[in-house]
Amino acid sequence: MQIKRVIIGLEVHVELRTASKMFCSCSADHFGKEPNTQTCPVCLGLPGALPVPNKKAIEWTLLLGLALGGEIQSFSRFDRKNYFYPDLPKGYQISQYQQPFILGGKITLESGKDIRIERIHLEEDTGKLLHQVIADEPSTLIDYNRSGVALVEIVSQPDLSSSEEAKEYLEKIHQIVRYLGISDADMEKGSMRLEPNVNLEIEDQGQLYYTPIVELKNINSFRFAKKAMEYEIKRQLEIFQEKRIEKGKGNKQTRGWDEDKQMTVPQREKEEASDYRYFPEPDIPPFFFTEKELTAYRLQSTAIELPRAKKERFMSEYGLSDYQAGILTAEKEMAYYFEEVVKFGKVKNIGATETANVIINKRAKEGISPKELVDFIASTKQTITVSEEDIDKIIDALLAAHPEVVESYKKGKVAALGMIVGLIKKQAGAVVPIERIAGRIR
Ligand SMILES: [Zn+2]
Repeated sequence: MQIKRVIIGLEVHVELRTASKMFCSCSADHFGKEPNTQTCPVCLGLPGALPVPNKKAIEWTLLLGLALGGEIQSFSRFDRKNYFYPDLPKGYQISQYQQPFILGGKITLESGKDIRIERIHLEEDTGKLLHQVIADEPSTLIDYNRSGVALVEIVSQPDLSSSEEAKEYLEKIHQIVRYLGISDADMEKGSMRLEPNVNLEIEDQGQLYYTPIVELKNINSFRFAKKAMEYEIKRQLEIFQEKRIEKGKGNKQTRGWDEDKQMTVPQREKEEASDYRYFPEPDIPPFFFTEKELTAYRLQSTAIELPRAKKERFMSEYGLSDYQAGILTAEKEMAYYFEEVVKFGKVKNIGATETANVIINKRAKEGISPKELVDFIASTKQTITVSEEDIDKIIDALLAAHPEVVESYKKGKVAALGMIVGLIKKQAGAVVPIERIAGRIR
């Protein structure tokens, strides 16, 4: 018996950084705010309150869909997903089921493998449960500040076949979302949440078997996600060897990652889609996009240079290596900074690869402006004109001017020469090793 193939699909939730929530005008900036101060009848689910969709959130969802190579659907609508949970005051979540905004798309991994995206839909976030002990009683408090915040869900096909591939896929989504500026995608704040679906194709005596799918819930770091998937792969093989339970209707399981125990643990049983009794949201009319509108969205999306295109341009336009271009385009801000330095650096004859090296190796002080960095690189270049002989002369002169340093050194305090190192750097802009200075003491 052996694992023929690991099958992983990913559901990624991204909270949009719109100013207001998905269906009301409450502030969506909920992190760290006083509980239940950013609510209204709509996001508290009070009877009679009517939702009004957030235009920006829809536009951003469409932009994300196009950036991932998906198709905007000319007809789409919101649905009600019914379930009861205290963090969901209406008793249903407004989501999209049959007619999402986007179908299709893909993420291409560095290996060239395409991971297909099934759909991208828009929904509302739930409130937050805070488990605490109050007056010796375990209690649960509810904060509805997050209730109704715009949430995009990106669902992949089960095309990923290792935890490494899944991690790369997640990092790419994270990067693209940040490039588009539609979310801070901060995992620690919960603005990006991951749900890997894992099962195995097992071969035994020429026959293929599939283990039940496990959905890993509420994982809040790439590292934990990777560990949880790796644990699941091992666990599912062991369970199959022992019990031989195959994937079947109703045996999808939900598990979470316990970082203390370094294992996945069971959570509530997963509902089947039919349990949610989805039906069209009656308070929000469906959406029709005209060809003219679709063209406008496509134009808007082509104006944004995405990480992969930027990286390729950095390599061809500036002659950077794959490694250099990868680091400098990891974040949009870093890429912009690099290009600004190159632009200002041209006048002072500073090349792009030289600039790339200085930034990547963090040779200059961090946080300085592009112009200051150009001045810094220019100053270090001048020292190249100082010859080796000149440097020896400078060392000799400094040693003669500072007999007390020579004295300390002779008594065994090698570190005293550090002062000479500093002076040489100031005078000639060169960093000289202590051994070289010591070598000139007679
Ligand atoms: Zn509200």
